[in-house]
Amino acid sequence: MAFPKAELHLHIEGTLEPELAFALAARNGVTLPYADTEALREAYRFDDLQSFLDLYYALMAVLRTADDFTELADAYLARAAAQGVRHAEIFFDPQAHTVRGVPIGTVVEGLGAALDRAEERYGISTRLIMCFLRDESAESALDTLRAAGPYLDRITGVGLDSAEVGHPPAKFREVYEEAARLGLRRVAHAGEEGPAEYIREALDVLGVERIDHGLRCVEDPELVERLARERVPLTLCPLSNVRLRTIDTLKDHPLREMLAAGLMATVNSDDPSYFGGYVGDNFDAVRDTLSLTPDQLRTLARNSFLASFLDDDEPRRERYLAEVEAYDFHLA
Ligand SMILES: [Zn+2]
Repeated sequence: MAFPKAELHLHIEGTLEPELAFALAARNGVTLPYADTEALREAYRFDDLQSFLDLYYALMAVLRTADDFTELADAYLARAAAQGVRHAEIFFDPQAHTVRGVPIGTVVEGLGAALDRAEERYGISTRLIMCFLRDESAESALDTLRAAGPYLDRITGVGLDSAEVGHPPAKFREVYEEAARLGLRRVAHAGEEGPAEYIREALDVLGVERIDHGLRCVEDPELVERLARERVPLTLCPLSNVRLRTIDTLKDHPLREMLAAGLMATVNSDDPSYFGGYVGDNFDAVRDTLSLTPDQLRTLARNSFLASFLDDDEPRRERYLAEVEAYDFHLA
């Protein structure tokens, strides 16, 4: 569906399509352990979050130069524009690159080159959010934040991703305090595979403004009530939940119930190359499977802009919201 929307939960490394992976591998002299793109796609059968992460990190070996990151971001922006994305808040994982000897400056400058012309080329405004890998140490996260110092003019906020269970938000209290002091916005993955309690902890200990996923809040009625009351945005990723077996089938997704409970839900793609679709495909899937009404679709589109960090750029946000109100969602 190509109605106007913002995408708020998108890992740029997760947009690496098999074709581009093989092209970059050839250019950079990297050998991939797959015969061809077909064999690689075949490997996209995940049992859980960890089995996906293993492949995800292995494939990142093809990303070496600033140009590689520019190409990656350009490919995403072109696809996103075709699916109605007007604004994208893009995650990247610096530690997954620095560990391979690719400096954070290469990553940020490479992505930045694509984002700088995104508005002109694709009609998409952008923000960049740097994520810490939660299965790495808190010290490594602090080092990463310090290494990002020279590039903070390009970075809007910080996030927390990778293997959730056993790595509670509180582990990163110090780095989030430092991020707040630097004036960075804060988000965190919580309640994807981890318990609802991690959502509460992300809010109370890390001071996050949005919860990425947050799916498991539905297990805790008191938390649902709080999230609704405080209008805390949740960046849901329905196709990701099915692929990583967080839910059995899309029919089991609680999106309708979440909207009915007054939660500030949004729909996003997470790692679209790996999970079977970009944000418009996620909308198509939930609309069809959960029989969403035009009003519910409009609410989700409106939420995506309200939950964005465009509040420091009011005129643009107002323009996008006006587009949502003018759109005929019966056609969606
Ligand atoms: Zn994610």
